Amino acid sequence: MNHAILISGERGTGKWSLAQAIAAFLLCEDIHSEQKPCGKCRSCTQMEGLSHPDLIVMRKGKPLVPTETKNAIPVSDVLEMQKRISLQGFQGNRHIVMIYHSEDLNEAAQNKMLKTLEEPPAGTFFLMTSVNPDRLLPTLISRCRPLKIQPWGDREILRVLAENNVDEIRAQESVMEAGGSFGKALTVSSDEEYWKLREKVLREFLFCDHRSDILKTSSEWKDRKDEADVLFSILENAVHRMMHGAVTADSSRESMRWMPSEWIEFTEKARPKDYVQLFEAIALARKRVRFSVNFQAVLEQLILSLMEAVHI
Ligand SMILES: [Zn+2]
Repeated sequence: MNHAILISGERGTGKWSLAQAIAAFLLCEDIHSEQKPCGKCRSCTQMEGLSHPDLIVMRKGKPLVPTETKNAIPVSDVLEMQKRISLQGFQGNRHIVMIYHSEDLNEAAQNKMLKTLEEPPAGTFFLMTSVNPDRLLPTLISRCRPLKIQPWGDREILRVLAENNVDEIRAQESVMEAGGSFGKALTVSSDEEYWKLREKVLREFLFCDHRSDILKTSSEWKDRKDEADVLFSILENAVHRMMHGAVTADSSRESMRWMPSEWIEFTEKARPKDYVQLFEAIALARKRVRFSVNFQAVLEQLILSLMEAVHI
């Protein structure tokens, strides 16, 4: 789902550091800070010691409430976390929950997480890491956006795509889209329909420039409710990738070179709250579809909210 990222990969690939960087980014109070957490404000200082009052860190052996359980993250921690995120934040309206080696959540705890992951309170983000996602319930995984860290994988996949004559930009985009899977990268790289749809969705929904286009787009899509999931996933994926690029991009911005120019323009001026606003708009649209709100009305509201968040 929208507000949960599951970062998986081998030990020592920087999963927890990435989770911390994203958390610091989302909590940073410096509204002028571009792209990265400023490293100086109250929140950033607190994040260095992971002692931000609106950050909840769950990990085996460091229970939030006293427990007998030693070798797992117990359900009592999940209940405590749920209690805390239901309250107003101390320093803002945001809660970040970081779960270290989330496969340490025992089965009862994982089950208890499901409802919260599906409908988290507004402004709540989950950043979970895992070296062994096979030990997570499929229902839990499906509620998270996967981010697989593969230190050598991408380069290998790019080599294979190059051998298959995929052009460089398409290859880079396919790698990002495929989350570490050779097969998916190859399939998606030659799936013209998918790229056409993606381009259209991003142009009409995420980077819509004129209010007068909203009605045109919404009426064009109003009978395509069965494609809602693909539509929302494309949008979420794009926002996640822009945020990921913004947090991890090095000073040469090499890793963002392949991004469409609108994305780069956005990441250059976007502040953490702008990403949050984008995520919340898509999450709200998903929710309204589930509650059977008229699809065209959902889309109009969505495009309007995305417009407000993108044109900053
Ligand atoms: Zn800061």
